[in-house]
Amino acid sequence: MGEIYCRRSLVRVSWGRTALPVRTTEFPKRPPRFGPAEIEALTAALSKNELWYWQKESIVASTMTKYAEKFGAHRAVATSSGTASLHVAIAAARMPAGSEVITTPITDIGTINAILYQNLIPVFADVDPDTAMPRPEHITAAITDRTRGVVAVHLTGCPMEIEDIASICSRAGLALIEDCAQALGATYRGKSVGLFGQYGCYSLNDQKHITSGEGGFVLTHTDYDYFLAHNYADKFYDRYGRNVRLQALAPNYRMSELDGAMAAAQLPKLDGIIRKRRALGDRLNGELSKIRGIIPQQKPPGAECSYFFYLFRIDPRIISCSRDAFVRGLAREGIPARGAYVREPIYRSHYFLQKSFFPGVWPAEVVAGRSYDYKSVSLPGTEEAVASGIILDLHEGFEDSDIDDYIAAIDLVAKNNR
Ligand SMILES: *Cc1c(COP(=O)(O)O)cnc(C)c1O
Repeated sequence: MGEIYCRRSLVRVSWGRTALPVRTTEFPKRPPRFGPAEIEALTAALSKNELWYWQKESIVASTMTKYAEKFGAHRAVATSSGTASLHVAIAAARMPAGSEVITTPITDIGTINAILYQNLIPVFADVDPDTAMPRPEHITAAITDRTRGVVAVHLTGCPMEIEDIASICSRAGLALIEDCAQALGATYRGKSVGLFGQYGCYSLNDQKHITSGEGGFVLTHTDYDYFLAHNYADKFYDRYGRNVRLQALAPNYRMSELDGAMAAAQLPKLDGIIRKRRALGDRLNGELSKIRGIIPQQKPPGAECSYFFYLFRIDPRIISCSRDAFVRGLAREGIPARGAYVREPIYRSHYFLQKSFFPGVWPAEVVAGRSYDYKSVSLPGTEEAVASGIILDLHEGFEDSDIDDYIAAIDLVAKNNR
């Protein structure tokens, strides 16, 4: 391999395109995810002749008990999506309309929408380009006297420095909500993500590690938070008889018994999925960090990642080509890669430049009595993370040989562009 490899890169320098890319076959798809366990669970749910979750021996209820146990939470509230779980948590944190909520400009738009739905104002903290996530000091720098909460997003399944962020929040009296949609199975200092804030929000959408089709759940740590979140996921119906009926505006984000059955059948598969992804991802991290000009997503000490996908970046001081040219170079080697998780920082999206969340007027600004101009937001770490980030697929269907090809191709393209 060494000889062909050198020759290829020499020829490439003088003539450009050569015969054999590093990879000539497709990468594996995710292995079969649904089987007898799911069929059995769904059949059992159907045989009850009722898909409504609030019934005796509710499947959703027993599934949530299993999820709470699995992650070490007090209780878990079922929701209809990850976005719903975030909205429920943000609503249950009861921040006054018009308050500022600090979050990251590199995330799924569901994170942001959950803040907007509650008439709160997203304030974007900068990120460390090497993690693509805010560090504690970025959160601190974004706090104003109008801040009431933080939504911390464990991007790619790599935990943030969540203990320090939790201390900042408790000192400043801010609600902390964790978005763990990409981080099922990730831990920080031995503890599952989602246990550090007031609420831990997860998605069970089809693309996540395990799925109920669509769905999500919120980890809670006190009875009070549980009942509040439960009510917020169910039109504020006080099904537990806690005497708080119709006290607040709340959507219907209920999970059906079919989704509950799916979620229960999928849970035992999580550990195997994480074990495999973690072994592959950690190995890729180790190997890529030896390549000059390549910076794998840095994980904080004590973090164990769940690798929703694989993120690294090129160091523009060492790699002379653009990120897009690097991605094209990988494509020529048979490696499908993409630029960063978001095409642009969320503050630069049309959505935020035009503030088109609500037609005509953004109520949160009216309540806040001030206007927020996202056109003037430019965060240097974020700009660098977005401009230099590259994403690769990585899942439990991959083998070591697939990772070998990633490493060989990245090494080659880096070598040709230093
Ligand atoms: C997927 C995802 C969400 C939203 O989850 P849905 O189930 O699609 O609503 C929110 N945040 C992050 C970081 C996600 O990856």
